[in-house]
Amino acid sequence: MNINKVYYLLLIFVFAFQTTFSQNKYEVTKTDKEWKSQLNELSYLVLRKAYTERPYTGKYDDFYEKGTYHCAGCDEPLYKSDHKYNSYCGWPSFDREISDKLEYDVDYKLGYPRTEIKCKKCGGHLGHVFNDGPKETTGIRHCVNSVALVFKKT
Ligand SMILES: [Zn+2]
Repeated sequence: MNINKVYYLLLIFVFAFQTTFSQNKYEVTKTDKEWKSQLNELSYLVLRKAYTERPYTGKYDDFYEKGTYHCAGCDEPLYKSDHKYNSYCGWPSFDREISDKLEYDVDYKLGYPRTEIKCKKCGGHLGHVFNDGPKETTGIRHCVNSVALVFKKT
């Protein structure tokens, strides 16, 4: 077997592996069409296209009932009301997530790196994480779009 053949086979292997890996990355996967029919327009744009809802417009911004916030895409519990606080930034803010429920990514949309947070189960975009959270707890602020969440009373 000459070296070109080996290289060619290796390429095929890498592409096959990448395709398999990306398809299995999330436990919940749907086509764009399926997401569109399941979600309302704004939730779809935020969760699947990484849009941001306008500040001070989300229904959970000024909302402090006791319960759990689930992913609006796949219903996975992501945040507890005990960790929600008012950061006055215009979006629901939490000082931590429920352990191991999020995926972190880097987003350069505004020209500088920001830490993007996604639901680990379906890959839905939730918002961003900043280091200006409450100093007396974690110092971290999860800035989350209301439309990416569904609140459930406990
Ligand atoms: Zn999800």
